[in-house]
Amino acid sequence: MDTFKSEKALVVFSGGQDSTTCLYWALEHFGQVHTLTFGYGQKHSLEIECAKEIANRAGVDFRYMDMSFIGSLGSNSLTDTSIKMDDSKPEGSFPNTFVPGRNLFFLSTAAVYARENGIRHIITGVSQTDFSGYPDCRDSFIRSLNVTLNLAMDSQFIIHTPLMWLDKAQTWEMADRLGVLDLVRNDTLTCYNGIKGDGCGHCPSCKLRRDGLEKYLKSREKSCCSTSEE
Ligand code: ZN
Repeated sequence: MDTFKSEKALVVFSGGQDSTTCLYWALEHFGQVHTLTFGYGQKHSLEIECAKEIANRAGVDFRYMDMSFIGSLGSNSLTDTSIKMDDSKPEGSFPNTFVPGRNLFFLSTAAVYARENGIRHIITGVSQTDFSGYPDCRDSFIRSLNVTLNLAMDSQFIIHTPLMWLDKAQTWEMADRLGVLDLVRNDTLTCYNGIKGDGCGHCPSCKLRRDGLEKYLKSREKSCCSTSEE
């Protein structure tokens, strides 16, 4: 990808594995990086603390915005404590961890914020390869929204999705290449039970994260051994 060293970028930032990897990807490509973290009524406010800590360590601007109305619009297990989180996908439907409209609201709000701050590059860690198949993580949605936002504000936003076609193992590989594998592993929060780093170990999010890490570390070991044998 081209680098935009003279330009600013805004990372939609949750303090999890994906958006933290995106933050460091952005630091590699842009001259000045800002982060925007949303509260959507998630059960674990520790997420927001993690995001703030990581942003501070990276030396980037951190902004928090409360959008908890999203959680109150519909029922989902990320915001409703009476629903048990379940990532299984009922036929023709979505897992109960799906928060309808979340990325639509997040990216639309991020675009307004970016415009007000003279930023045209917006970065989000969505991935189509991800297990759940959330419709607002798909490439077609992001491209469509990009056009809509440009029309809505007569702007030239570019939404970057560096993880769109990567699986979890490849996302770990990117973090490693960026020199932040340990930071992502120890300081980010992806666990549905709100435990930092390797997490609770048994929720679907922890499982996905760990399987990806194991797969990546195995492949790294292999490629390092095969090089030394040559
Ligand atoms: Zn967990």
